[in-house]
Amino acid sequence: MIKTGCPYCGVGCGLVAEVRDGRLTAVRGDEEHPVNRGRTCRKPLALPEASRSGDRALTPLLRASQDERFRDASWDEALGHVAVRLQRYRPEEIAFYISGQLLTEDYYAVSKLAKGHLGTNNVDSNSRLCMSSAVAAYDATFGADGPPPAYDDIELASTILLLGSNTSACHPILWGRIRAAQEAGATLIVVDPRRTDSAAVADLHLQIRPGTDLALLNAMVAPHELAGEWDAARAADVCGVPAVAIERAARAFADSEASLAMWSMGANQSVEGVAINRALLNLCVVTGQIGRPGAGPFSLTGQPNAMGGRETGGLAHLLPGYRKVVREDHRAEVEAHWGLPTGSIDPKPGLPATDLFEALEDGRVKVVWVVATNPAVSMPDAERVRNALRNAELVIVQDAYHPTETGALAHVLLPSAQWPEKAGTSVNSERRIQLMRAAIDPPGQARADWRIFAALAQRMGFDGFGWNDAAEVYDEFAALTKGRPCDQSGVSHARLQSGSIQWPCRSAQDPGTARLYTDGRFPSDTGKPKLAAAQPGHPADPPDADFPLVLTTGRIASQWHTMTRTAKAPDLVAAEPEPFLELHPEDAKRAWLKDGQLARVTSRRGAVTLKVRLDETLRPGTAFAPFHWGALHAPAGHGGVNDLTHSSTDPVSRQPGLKATAIRVEPVTAR
Ligand code: SF4
Repeated sequence: MIKTGCPYCGVGCGLVAEVRDGRLTAVRGDEEHPVNRGRTCRKPLALPEASRSGDRALTPLLRASQDERFRDASWDEALGHVAVRLQRYRPEEIAFYISGQLLTEDYYAVSKLAKGHLGTNNVDSNSRLCMSSAVAAYDATFGADGPPPAYDDIELASTILLLGSNTSACHPILWGRIRAAQEAGATLIVVDPRRTDSAAVADLHLQIRPGTDLALLNAMVAPHELAGEWDAARAADVCGVPAVAIERAARAFADSEASLAMWSMGANQSVEGVAINRALLNLCVVTGQIGRPGAGPFSLTGQPNAMGGRETGGLAHLLPGYRKVVREDHRAEVEAHWGLPTGSIDPKPGLPATDLFEALEDGRVKVVWVVATNPAVSMPDAERVRNALRNAELVIVQDAYHPTETGALAHVLLPSAQWPEKAGTSVNSERRIQLMRAAIDPPGQARADWRIFAALAQRMGFDGFGWNDAAEVYDEFAALTKGRPCDQSGVSHARLQSGSIQWPCRSAQDPGTARLYTDGRFPSDTGKPKLAAAQPGHPADPPDADFPLVLTTGRIASQWHTMTRTAKAPDLVAAEPEPFLELHPEDAKRAWLKDGQLARVTSRRGAVTLKVRLDETLRPGTAFAPFHWGALHAPAGHGGVNDLTHSSTDPVSRQPGLKATAIRVEPVTAR
């Protein structure tokens, strides 16, 4: 029996892994864990099937072109091949596309390899699609990234505002805590264009038109200056909800003893995602709902270690310890820590995810190393991304499974260990660092991701990668956070053996920090929050006569990302066996579609086939589809939903606006 953390969402529940004869036999919730207190959702219970599935990547594979068959290779041959190939390219021609599934130690090792030694800042993560708008907003408003509250604030809040978060499906254990708070008397307000399971039980559901969050939030801060010309009446026209409901939500949030604003992808995955995030921070600051028990702005991370990725410099503009590549002093601190000459780190930010694949498509980037993610399915405008991968001179895919839709386009496949085959740390949405313990050996020749990066670095002759274990990697990273907002210099693997710790944790005696900014001081240059008003802009992909509906995408409770792991569990697959499109009955009728019929769904970029599911609780004009299914798991010829979505991004965070795509629908038989 080994205690560890859940490898799925950013809630960061504690799990107990049962192991017999070197095999993982069962998984259950850890009753002593402060986040979930023994509970779990259904996904981790199916991990034993996923960990021993027949498509685990067991040995390095090589081939000269994407048309050839792979052949088995030794690690020595594969890493030698990669080392020789990388030396043929200029630093800016090399890119890494990594993942919030990685542990902090993996993230740190790849940041050091790429930004310190290969000289490329082209290291971006699928977290760019998940929470980069929150990162930019916290940084601009408070002077540093990082969600201020703790989960324990849920039980202390008297009003909870959930915006753009179907917490019931996407963060189920937090949802249980929110429901318990509601039952104990808290008011739950949900802002969502869909009547999700979360919205259905809210005390107040503001079912706004997709893309009108900013108008609503501006009206909620009226009459403060930040509201500009917005008030409830004007916002009601734009958002399509009654003014009285907006006023009620605003009063409930401002007047309650303690209000918590929680949000997720509905706010972040927008071309005005940073403005929406800043408006949420504005709301908390002007109403005094921050820095107190039960109060504050609380972005929820989608992935298990998106937070650790931010802290270790896993986005193209960052360096470890919330440092920025554009800051000379930050580069100098990191270079000194890494024992590198001054000027080793490029002062120019690397390419964010969408730009990275565009550059791969047009040949500016020639090599991409994809780690623990499946961009051929998960990136917006996915056919372009697949074309970019087809166009690359060298695609290295490092994954625990083979094939994936992305691995099918690789030249080099490096088999990685996954949960619970490697040790390391992970950080959840409330800044809680926990130990992910190794419970079983990796299969075949699979290795921990940080070990693969370290081996490649040593092969290329780089110093500073001689770590013996993950604890040493963590120690090196933690020392680099000293004095920084995400200070975890008081944390070590040894200390985490006795339990998880919330950063900042500045010394071995520091018990950690439940909530930030309780003294009213912020890490900005003035010591105060910098509030900024923002006006709603125009949609990036507006509906018109040809594409009259707005498609919003999201997750379902039984699946995770592109199904690489969750499709291996029959129980999870049985819960939702096929992809679907939810339509309002009026929209379906107008398109001659019935419940259960196959629809051709077309956007300005592509077309896919989905089974229609009528839902009269949707707003007419809005459609919904989960994004999980790609070519490997969707019925033959149906395609993945991200073949429809557009790649326009927020101008600051560069997070794609995945929540609003103009589409049309028609019966498949009519083609
Ligand atoms: Fe894992 Fe998230 Fe479910 Fe908790 S809520 S058990 S972290 S998937």
